[in-house]
Amino acid sequence: MIASLMPTYNRADLAFERGDGVWLYTSDGRRYLDFGAGIATSSLGHGHPHLVGAIAEQAGRVMHVSNLYRVPQAERLAQRLVDASFADSVFFCNSGAEANEGMVKMMRRAMYAGGHPERTRMICFNGAFHGRTLAMLSATGNEKYLQGFGTPVDGFDHVPMNNLNAVRDAITPHTAGILIEPIQGEGGVRSADGRFLRELRSTCDEFGLLLGFDEVQCGMGRTGRLFAHEWAGVKPDVVSTAKGIGGGFPLGAILATEAVAKHLTAGSHGTTFGGSPLACAAGNAVLDVVLQPDFLDGVARTGEVLREALEALAEAQPDAFNGVRGRGLMLGIHCVLPNTALQAACMAEGLLVVAAGENVLRLVPPLVVSEEECRDAVQRLGRAAARVRQAEPAHAS
Ligand SMILES: *Cc1c(COP(=O)(O)O)cnc(C)c1O
Repeated sequence: MIASLMPTYNRADLAFERGDGVWLYTSDGRRYLDFGAGIATSSLGHGHPHLVGAIAEQAGRVMHVSNLYRVPQAERLAQRLVDASFADSVFFCNSGAEANEGMVKMMRRAMYAGGHPERTRMICFNGAFHGRTLAMLSATGNEKYLQGFGTPVDGFDHVPMNNLNAVRDAITPHTAGILIEPIQGEGGVRSADGRFLRELRSTCDEFGLLLGFDEVQCGMGRTGRLFAHEWAGVKPDVVSTAKGIGGGFPLGAILATEAVAKHLTAGSHGTTFGGSPLACAAGNAVLDVVLQPDFLDGVARTGEVLREALEALAEAQPDAFNGVRGRGLMLGIHCVLPNTALQAACMAEGLLVVAAGENVLRLVPPLVVSEEECRDAVQRLGRAAARVRQAEPAHAS
């Protein structure tokens, strides 16, 4: 008989009762170092007093009013994001997929308004992940996710990442823009080269296309800058973000320049829940922390400590790991042993990590993680590899 909770996930047999900082606790008292952070989402960790207080206080006043009225919490959050980024205007929604849908709609609409209604197609990249709605499944382009869901939504062309010739060859009179994750998360913590991102910008300018970054996972401070594209010194036209922006409360956002945003006129796009007083109170509380002077530099520094510890582990155990990827606190360790076996062994060692594509384990702890907790996590990962070797002698060398 089917479980009453629809079984669309292979869940670990583990339930948490409470959390504190980077730690999660089960009801029987076991504790886990959380380097998954609910898939790079619990950016301030668990039970952060400022975030908890802001949500509780706002919940007591008013949670939801709809977008038929002004929402001061949303106006404030939008202004703060505009002040801290390339953007002139922000649209709030509830999830990463919804932010990406809106981003693509905005790009298409800008082309339409500019006299190019035929320009609707997006160039996307192999290994991408943009979400699970029907259109974002097509943007993702992964056969495994598309299977059984009918004809893929038209309008998304895929090329290899970091290959400018492939991008230029894919441009047609129907192309509206380019959609890329500056660092692919699900795909295996694969970074776009800074030079490649700058070349995409100049290519978009040359052909009159729009450049959209999916920063649902790598944005909101995760890499040590508010947005990952800042490392490349490139200015996008549109950016989507979600995961970390609400610190665990569902919230997504589309940030855009005025030139693009102005085409999504009143009535052309909407959402019932998006940008509610409660969600934006959470977003503002997260920004209170992330925008503190030195916070993002601290994320970058802690990320260096984690990276160095992971590199030392890979060097010490070359039969288990071979290489570290990513930036800031969005790191992946490429595995020789099967990543899913390692993920399970990590759990037995009290460490939560997330598997990603290309046999990578993702380490995406809360941004408030300490250097000591990073070293602790890497020791647990080393012991997890020993467990997998014992359990699977075929993999021992
Ligand atoms: C998680 C993710 C999404 C989808 O976000 P949801 O909130 O699950 O819809 C889209 N893009 C990227 C890069 C992601 O990591």
